[in-house]
Amino acid sequence: MASGIIRHKRRHLLHGSEELFRALIQNSTDIITIHDAEGITIYETPSASRILGYLPGALIGKSPFDAIHPKDVEGTRVAFHSVLEGSREVLPVEFRFHHADGSWIWLEGVGANLMHHYGIEGIVLTSRDITPRKNAEKQLNYLANHDALTGLPNRLLMEDRLRQAIAQAHRNGYLAAVMLIDLDQFKMVNESLGHHAGDLLLMEVARRIKQCAREGDTIARLGGDEFTVILHNAGTVEHVSSIAQMILEEFSRPLTIDRQELFTSASIGISIYPADGDEPDALIKHADTAMYSAKKLGRSNHRFFTDDLNAKVRERIVLENGLRTAVQRNELRLYYQPKVNVASGRIIGAEALLRWQHPQLGLVSPEIFIPIAEETGLIVPIGEWVLRTACNQICVWHNAGHELHVAVNLSPYQLREQDLCDRITEIMLQTGVPANQLEVEITESVLVENAENAIAVLNTLKSQGIAIAIDDFGTGYSSLSYLGRFPLDILKIDQSFVRNITTDEGNTAIVRAILALAKSLGMKVVAEGVESNTQLSFLSAHGCDFAQGYFFSPPVEAERFVQLVKAGAMAKTAPESIRLFKRNT
Ligand code: C2E
Ligand code: MG
Ligand code: MG
Repeated sequence: MASGIIRHKRRHLLHGSEELFRALIQNSTDIITIHDAEGITIYETPSASRILGYLPGALIGKSPFDAIHPKDVEGTRVAFHSVLEGSREVLPVEFRFHHADGSWIWLEGVGANLMHHYGIEGIVLTSRDITPRKNAEKQLNYLANHDALTGLPNRLLMEDRLRQAIAQAHRNGYLAAVMLIDLDQFKMVNESLGHHAGDLLLMEVARRIKQCAREGDTIARLGGDEFTVILHNAGTVEHVSSIAQMILEEFSRPLTIDRQELFTSASIGISIYPADGDEPDALIKHADTAMYSAKKLGRSNHRFFTDDLNAKVRERIVLENGLRTAVQRNELRLYYQPKVNVASGRIIGAEALLRWQHPQLGLVSPEIFIPIAEETGLIVPIGEWVLRTACNQICVWHNAGHELHVAVNLSPYQLREQDLCDRITEIMLQTGVPANQLEVEITESVLVENAENAIAVLNTLKSQGIAIAIDDFGTGYSSLSYLGRFPLDILKIDQSFVRNITTDEGNTAIVRAILALAKSLGMKVVAEGVESNTQLSFLSAHGCDFAQGYFFSPPVEAERFVQLVKAGAMAKTAPESIRLFKRNT
């Protein structure tokens, strides 16, 4: 009896199957499309235009792959071909489809092969709009990876980023750094002012840490009052140390929370990849250990995990602090290295080279302290001291009847100072130095970095009668075309070319070319770092004007220098050794 009713209903359904089909299609919330073996759409349901925003029929005759997100094309193509080949188990694929308004709609599609089905003869694809679900997933993912209070990455995401940072640093040979920042006495704020104030404080702290990091670095909150900064490409240990110092200084400014001024401080522990480990866990653990030793030092300190690095940073701090008072304490010395006329063998002048007589370290090399002076801005007063001392010395020699040209090195940082020319004029007037006996040496980088400014400054100096030399020529990255644009008188061939002048064919060719170039531009040439007779003979044979190097004399004190001048044509002196404090890195 019951089966009779079902049979009756089925017959009835079959009768009206076309209407039934139309009704189902009209009301479907899924998109149903039919494709030929190439994938071209041959049929679409009205829902397609409702969901995707195109005019009805717009997909017909086109390949859906053109509108699928490039990252999803591969997956959907594979799925399509599996259906075409009649694979039974085809899982639903998720992909992004271009909406008419330019956004992406997430679809989940399943296919059925009805190629041999009369009246259909195609691949039937049923796709469902899953954009809301995907957005919810994204939101969940964000929540799972971020700290709700500050919006910063949480521990989970931080570890992931650290893993990436390690891989990147490994590939490129960088250092990566992990800083663990812990607020000092945060508990007290929480307990005395309440959790709301504590929250506001943490948010402000997050903002301040962000200001110190570069784009691309990761700042995370690990929970409580613990933050992490990952420097993905940390540069040098000194750079890491200066960032930690910057963060600590940010903390030392008072914070206004709920109209109350609060003072906080922090302790920072730092571990470095690869020195302190090559796994996130080890680096975080070591940064933590370093943080505890920073805390032990008292508030507002940072420590590295490795003691050597602490020593390096301490040495840098010692040098930096010492340099601040070096001028007042009269610890700077100017040495003079003879510049010799290649043809006559006579000393025509000197290059003034700076040394620092450090009370504990002895004579410190300019290669160590000039970069620190430049970073701290101390190069400006130090550079002035050099100029004044050199000018005074020229006058002393001038008065004793020696006409000597003295070259002073100018740092690019000095050239950036607006009043450099005024300062030099003032020093020249005060010391009464004859301008034609003063030279300045600048490096190629000056000409490249801020050419317009450099041209103006050099023209002013030149108009006062000062000769201008380009130092370490050939080591910069500039094009030769700039040479003609600048008022240059002297070109100094870098010692790296002179070193193998007769043994390395490349260097021989370069030195020859530099000499020819200088001659055609009307410039004189000084070869730096001449250490042997062979080098000197080569330079002489190729028309080099002047030479400077240990072959004649190392840089010496003024009294010794004048003795060399008095001795007449330079004899081939054995190099005098001066002990300089240099880092062995
Ligand atoms: P620079 O201007 O290229 O000076 C030449 C350097 O080569 C000097 O090193 C000199 O002692 C060294 N030298 C000279 N002859 C020879 C040689 O035959 N063989 C070798 N191997 N080396 C030789 P120093 O005095 O250590 O100075 C290093 C750099 O520090 C200088 O390079 C210059 O760039 C900078 N510097 C020195 N004094 C000053 C200064 O007063 N102001 C500024 N801004 N920089 C300075
Ligand atoms: Mg020089
Ligand atoms: Mg040089």
